[in-house]
Amino acid sequence: MKILISTLILSCCFFVPLYTQEVEYKQSGASTVLGQESHGALDDISNLFFLISRSSNWYDVVRPKPDRYEYVQKDSLPVRWDITCFPLKVYSKPRVGNKSKAYLHFICQATSIWNEVAQDIGLGVDFFQPVHDSLEADIRVDWSGRYVPFGAVGIAKLRLRIIGMLPKKQYKNKGEIIEMLLHELCHLLGVKHSKVANDIMFELAHSHDHEPSDVKVSTRDRQMLAWLYAAKVYHSF
Ligand SMILES: [Zn+2]
Repeated sequence: MKILISTLILSCCFFVPLYTQEVEYKQSGASTVLGQESHGALDDISNLFFLISRSSNWYDVVRPKPDRYEYVQKDSLPVRWDITCFPLKVYSKPRVGNKSKAYLHFICQATSIWNEVAQDIGLGVDFFQPVHDSLEADIRVDWSGRYVPFGAVGIAKLRLRIIGMLPKKQYKNKGEIIEMLLHELCHLLGVKHSKVANDIMFELAHSHDHEPSDVKVSTRDRQMLAWLYAAKVYHSF
């Protein structure tokens, strides 16, 4: 049932001027633009299956997918990590010449927020673990800006397992950095975009005028991950 997908490419988070966004999902050379995938039939099927969690209060609880929220699919099934793959090890590769401490701090802040969500939804294990050695990393965060398209502020490359960020001075403030990291990390969990403004995965950029401590994931963000990681029938990364 679990099928490795070697051809999966997700390019996302093109926060272009005026905060429009472009997401592309390519598979076997074909391209599907996000938003064209149907919800109805798949949701009906997927909601029939729920993984029994290590958390007792998670047993047999029906967790519907929040509406207007997209996720990576293959053959009409969700694509996500096996629980045994967690925590995914995240390595921060800073821009050459910059000290890595500040960048690592951003990574730690963002991953800790998602790890709290992992505990909240009863996953029983953290989603992410920052590491200092690139060789053991599952995900690499590159701050050089070389992966980020012109006009964008971040990108998640699912096949390469790379998050492309700009050098920190090119962001408005630390809050924007944390918010972008949260957004890109969530893409690497198999989530696409939400059409609801308060969600961290909202397809248009947020206001970015807040402090890092004000950056929060929404209830719907939590519900989306709870639904995705409760799905018993899925394809694994
Ligand atoms: Zn995005």
